[in-house]
Amino acid sequence: MDGERAMKTSFKAALMAGGFAMLAACDPQTGAGPAAPAEGGGDAAVVSIAGMPEGPLRTADAELVTLYQQLHAAPELSFKEAKTAALLAGELKSLGFAVTEGVGDAWVKEKSTKDHGEVREGVGGYGVVGVFENGPGPVVLIRADMDALPVPENTSFPFASKVLSETWTGVESPVMHACGHDIHMTVWVGTARRLIAEKSKWRGTLIMIAQPAEEIGLGAQAMLADGLYSKFPKPDFNIALHVSAGAPAGTVAYSSGFALANVDSVDIKVKGIGGHGAYPHTTVDPILVGSHIVVALQSLVSRNVNPLDSAVVTVGSFKAGAKHNIIPDEAELLITVRSYEDKTRQMLLDNIKRIAEGQAAAFGAPAPEITVESDFTPATYNDPDLTERAMKAVGEELGAANVRAVPPVMGGEDFSQFARTEEKIPGLIFWLGVVEPEKYAASQVDGMPLPSLHSPLFAPDYDPAIATGVDAMTSAVIELFKD
Ligand SMILES: [Zn+2]
Ligand SMILES: [Zn+2]
Repeated sequence: MDGERAMKTSFKAALMAGGFAMLAACDPQTGAGPAAPAEGGGDAAVVSIAGMPEGPLRTADAELVTLYQQLHAAPELSFKEAKTAALLAGELKSLGFAVTEGVGDAWVKEKSTKDHGEVREGVGGYGVVGVFENGPGPVVLIRADMDALPVPENTSFPFASKVLSETWTGVESPVMHACGHDIHMTVWVGTARRLIAEKSKWRGTLIMIAQPAEEIGLGAQAMLADGLYSKFPKPDFNIALHVSAGAPAGTVAYSSGFALANVDSVDIKVKGIGGHGAYPHTTVDPILVGSHIVVALQSLVSRNVNPLDSAVVTVGSFKAGAKHNIIPDEAELLITVRSYEDKTRQMLLDNIKRIAEGQAAAFGAPAPEITVESDFTPATYNDPDLTERAMKAVGEELGAANVRAVPPVMGGEDFSQFARTEEKIPGLIFWLGVVEPEKYAASQVDGMPLPSLHSPLFAPDYDPAIATGVDAMTSAVIELFKD
């Protein structure tokens, strides 16, 4: 445990604390530009850095810190969160919740059989739903996600993960909580404990859900398909948080309206006619066709998307051929497609097909095979009224200066699924800053990016972040219980 820390950072200290790697795709850009040194700056000079937390940093309960370290040391991959789910279910039971485990299990096993031809050992739907009735009033659902990532941990935490495991499709990998879901779960437990201890302050029904498999975009669907809104009380509001690797601990950030993007994956198999590299006139070169497709795709965002709308088309993989002097007969492009509006999404998918087919035809190549993956993550929309109410309450708790509106990002989150059903339940996911304030300040001064989410170096300043998260979530939820 550490006590209160000074919130002004000396220019020198700021420069000395380091940060590296790329900013996360799913991170708010909360920082202002690099801070200017104070007049007559020297060792003793103190500069004010935009975005730094104001007031003393909070300190988490020792038990929550221990829980965080335990979760961090024992990460589990998507659809394999058996032990994590059991731990969280046990926590809710001890608090007096009515708990249902294995929510989504049948859906996951059916999906695995359909897509991968088998259900590997340990794979299941480990969703947990806890219901606590506390008199008449609104129904509020708080969601945490449980899964870790196939990333080899490279932090200096003494409780760093050494876990090796297999993904649900059988790929062996080191495992790390590199997206902060261990912080989400710890804050979720801390919030449940606080809300039960302070149950005289609210009336209504509290639903706590622990969701599996956020990282593969399927866990929310599994829980919804298993009757999340029919077997349990139907929520009036859904709320969640996600750590931000771009904001300092002690702060919270949010976007009202669209917060995260539609995420689609498209595979294009470009067909050609292979042959000897020295006799290209006897071939149809799929690398050349593929190259023209990559270039033509750049026109979608620049010439088909309204400049006031947002979209991304990124070719993340272009694979073809094996040797200098062989023209292959196939090339493969893997594309991520991001948007907010449903009609923009459809336009992009339609035009990717048009461009790929048109380019192939132009070169006399066979028609390409184009596959849009069926599991897409829809855009996350934060209900503006809910966002305003909740963030006002959080501002009263943390100090308004520690709660900031930030622009949306093109990352994705399957929390969006909970609002995309016919029930149309308003939802809000907000960002919890987790960067050590001195490192944040240093990155603002020297412009060096901080380790992003999903980085092996992602090491949150967990103690003040957990404390801030519990205070923020508790105050938001108590506000939502007011009729
Ligand atoms: Zn993630
Ligand atoms: Zn995440």
